Amino acid sequence: MFEIACGKCGAAVYSGVDLKSARDVLKLVGNRCKKCGALLSDQEFVVDVKPMQT
Ligand SMILES: [Zn+2]
Repeated sequence: MFEIACGKCGAAVYSGVDLKSARDVLKLVGNRCKKCGALLSDQEFVVDVKPMQT
C-alpha cells in the first residue's frame, strides 16, 4: 500500500497499490489537499509506503 499524507492535517491525499512518483500523485490531486485545501509541494507531504500483507 502506498500512501501520501498531507503535511498539515495528516489526511491521506492519495492511497493505492500503484507506487507512483510523488510528483505524479500531486498532479493527480491538483497539488492540493482535499481535506484542508492546503497546497502541497513535494517537500511538504509525507510519503508512507506500507508493505502489502499477504
Ligand atoms: Zn490537509
